[in-house]
Amino acid sequence: MSSKPPKKKYIDGLDKVTYDRYAQKTKDIGVDPYEVPKQKFNSDHKNLPAIVYIDILNYLVTSTSAYTYEQLRAFKSLDAYNQFVNGWVTDVKSLAANDKVLVTGRVRHSQRMNDTPLRPWVIASPSGIIDCAHCDCMAGLGEACTHVGALLFYSMEAYRLSKEKTVTQDKAYWLLPSSLDKVPYSEIRDIDFTTAETQKKQRDSVQNGGSVCKRNTLKLPEVPEPTADDISGFMEALFVTKSKASVCLLNQHTRNILCQMY
Ligand SMILES: [Zn+2]
Repeated sequence: MSSKPPKKKYIDGLDKVTYDRYAQKTKDIGVDPYEVPKQKFNSDHKNLPAIVYIDILNYLVTSTSAYTYEQLRAFKSLDAYNQFVNGWVTDVKSLAANDKVLVTGRVRHSQRMNDTPLRPWVIASPSGIIDCAHCDCMAGLGEACTHVGALLFYSMEAYRLSKEKTVTQDKAYWLLPSSLDKVPYSEIRDIDFTTAETQKKQRDSVQNGGSVCKRNTLKLPEVPEPTADDISGFMEALFVTKSKASVCLLNQHTRNILCQMY
């Protein structure tokens, strides 16, 4: 009976320059983050490094690594923060290795929710100073992709919440954005358009004993569903404009009507 060939290591698929850099980055912890057995990781957020915002800024902005300088400049921190508050970061765990802490997590792709999540990791000192990071996305080879940023923001919040309690003395874990498995189709009135910045303010407010000021739902007039004739008339009106209306591309029903008209 033939046995399965050993699984190829992630590092073996890297080009020479990236391979050397990867080996250099992981030297201090003595293990390859992608080769550590899952059961060795700890999921208690108290064991995360004590990262604060200035540590993230310091890592992203003032790193002097020539290899990462351009990527660091291009880093979009707001995108990373959005990924964090939208629940795209999951499975954040840590491992104490030598005098460092390895943090790993999974972050969903920004445009393709169903694809296998990316696996950024970060090495930091227990006090929160970030040494280096990596991600298996293309930009992550440069060590400062939005997935690394999202993992850093998650770690910062998770650690802070693990140490603090709300005014009711409850543990504050629930303030972390819950992870999102998929994005369902919803009617516009059911979609939460609250920005990342506002969500952050709301979370901070709740933690400090305040309340969240929710906007009242707009009361819309009751409008009857359009009939097939209504829709045909609407499509026809769009069609005669001779410009490509995006609404015509949105649903199968309207597409069928358009096909009949063509
Ligand atoms: Zn990445």
